[in-house]
Amino acid sequence: MVKGQEIIGLRMTTRAATIFAIIESLSTAKEVLDSLGVCGNKVFKKQPEHCPICDASHMATLELIGVSSKPLFWECEGCGSLWCREKRSWIEGRIEELHGIWTNAEDWEQPHKDDMN
Ligand SMILES: [Zn+2]
Repeated sequence: MVKGQEIIGLRMTTRAATIFAIIESLSTAKEVLDSLGVCGNKVFKKQPEHCPICDASHMATLELIGVSSKPLFWECEGCGSLWCREKRSWIEGRIEELHGIWTNAEDWEQPHKDDMN
């Protein structure tokens, strides 16, 4: 009997979020993370046993589509606070890169149809 991946006592869920709209309306990656509710700079490679804020023991992973293919945060199911799984500075760097891509999108040259063969 295959039980699959089950971690006793912990409910693991992956919830994906998209932050395109947030990034476009805010100017810095730090503001983006603050608006998402990311707490502090501490990195939790493993799920915290209890939320440092509300003491809840259930956390989900939160993925930011387009920023990284792996989940970047733990999200407390009790109070909704987010905790970094990677260095905050690294996450901010990834977001800054995306910001640059979007703001420069109008500068991209469209290949002319006649040139495509
Ligand atoms: Zn909490």
